[in-house]
Amino acid sequence: MLTGVQITVIGGDARQLEVIQTFVELDATVLLIGFDNLQNQYSGATKSSLTPEALEASDAVILPVVGTDDKGMVDSLFSTTELQLTEAHIQSLPKHAKVYTGMAKSYLKSLCADAGVALVELLERDDVAIYNSIPTAEGAVMMAIQNTDITIHGSSCMVLGLGRTGFTMARTLQGLGAHVKVGIRRPEHFARAWEMGFTPFYLADLAQHVANIDLLFNTIPTMIVTAQIIANIPHRAVLIDLASKPGGMDFRFAEKRGIKAMLAPGLPGIVAPKTAGRIIARTVSQLILEDAATGRKTQ
Ligand code: NAP
Repeated sequence: MLTGVQITVIGGDARQLEVIQTFVELDATVLLIGFDNLQNQYSGATKSSLTPEALEASDAVILPVVGTDDKGMVDSLFSTTELQLTEAHIQSLPKHAKVYTGMAKSYLKSLCADAGVALVELLERDDVAIYNSIPTAEGAVMMAIQNTDITIHGSSCMVLGLGRTGFTMARTLQGLGAHVKVGIRRPEHFARAWEMGFTPFYLADLAQHVANIDLLFNTIPTMIVTAQIIANIPHRAVLIDLASKPGGMDFRFAEKRGIKAMLAPGLPGIVAPKTAGRIIARTVSQLILEDAATGRKTQ
């Protein structure tokens, strides 16, 4: 239990409701900032505005998955008031406090570093990235279905990258009966892909392998589907870029060639906010419980 531990949740979307619920159940003292329009009443949770004084007793601060933008603005689905996290807010936290987010921009990283407050980026953790890959792959399948007039079953699919997202993506497509090619750069990934029944190829040969595909899913966060590659892709193909912004495709050239190509960020929060929220809630609560158990109130 987290009795006596103060958790401050700042902004976010439906995913944060799972986080709030979890901490209320663990008997933490929960402070909600940026939730003015939230209808749900949580016993043990109080609403506040974003001031340095409000954060003074926080043991942990939980920000949305995207953290802040480059100017410290925090998105909140449940408030119309702008939330800007500044140096004064982070400086007011106790030194043992930790700030949790999905991924942090350099703005947030430097605020925390300057204040000597630990910052935890949840999406850097393998377990969170692997759990998140499940709603990501489901969302990508949804987009593929919405944008094609063929079944995934029997189609020729390509997945670029066999990391945490690519693996799940390839397996999900295979489970639906697609022929799945995977583009990799390491021999051990080639061997694993072969063992799993995919058709692996080296990314150096990408241009040759795209000639007959129906769907392409990119998970490589660098420019990989260049104009030169797109020139070899059939017009019927649909390209779905799962890599974080700006993605890894030349969207301008795809549009010029009349090929459907789309960046698909934040799929877990869009297609399965409850599940995505539970993934965050489970991980953050576990980390805070571990900190509490090691004798520190929390860090
Ligand atoms: P990951 O486990 O690190 O996998 C990345 C893959 O890209 C690996 O296979 C890696 O190959 C490959 N790669 C990286 N740089 C490369 C390069 N220069 N050339 C060739 N291959 C390269 O990452 P992940 O967790 O799967 O996430 C992948 C991307 O999806 C990230 O941008 C992440 O933010 C994004 N994402 C998006 C959503 C969404 O909703 N759209 C959801 C989750 C994640 P090696 O193993 O050989 O290094």
